[in-house]
Amino acid sequence: MAREARTVNPDRAESTETTGTRQSRRGFGGYNKTVQGLNQTTFRVEDDSEVIVFLEPENFTYALRHWVKFIGENGQQQTRVEYCLEDECPLCDIGDRPKPTAFFNVVDLANPNKVLVWEATADPTNAIQKEFNKLAKRGQTLDAEGIYWVVSREKGRNGFFTYSIDKLTEEDLVAEWPSLKPITSAQRTALSQRLYGEDYVTFKDRDELVEFVDSLG
Ligand SMILES: [Zn+2]
Repeated sequence: MAREARTVNPDRAESTETTGTRQSRRGFGGYNKTVQGLNQTTFRVEDDSEVIVFLEPENFTYALRHWVKFIGENGQQQTRVEYCLEDECPLCDIGDRPKPTAFFNVVDLANPNKVLVWEATADPTNAIQKEFNKLAKRGQTLDAEGIYWVVSREKGRNGFFTYSIDKLTEEDLVAEWPSLKPITSAQRTALSQRLYGEDYVTFKDRDELVEFVDSLG
């Protein structure tokens, strides 16, 4: 699958902490997840649900993105994801409609020492924003200590995923997710030094996008 172009700072993608007591390593499930985790910088809901922590009270940036479908050299349909230039964008010019994405620094508790970016499209962003608003009324924030979030997705009849996020207290986490451990203050401090910032989104030159549009024929 084509992923969007971005710069990855390897310093921030690595973790130096150990995870403590080991879980069972029997079977391919954990193996595959670990292999994937080695290069992954984006948060994805791989199973039905994941438990995460937000590392900041809100998204650190947002952008519009184009998902351009085209037939590749191998004759197969491909999707290329490009950031929209917003102003005089060659992809907008050919009628492709960009979709908004909000970017959040999160930790997946299955891999608790690594900062991941949740590139949240409109549907999950709406779900997150609802919780953000509920918390704000009580003077709380998404990244409050002791708050965890179960992120679930479900494929709708239209083929798109619908996301929901549900708040968990630390007690809920311990009781309902025995394989996961709460994030400690020390872990949180270490993670907060490796947050991604606005430079996570790198825009291509207009000429490069024009070239891509020309290649589409
Ligand atoms: Zn555009």
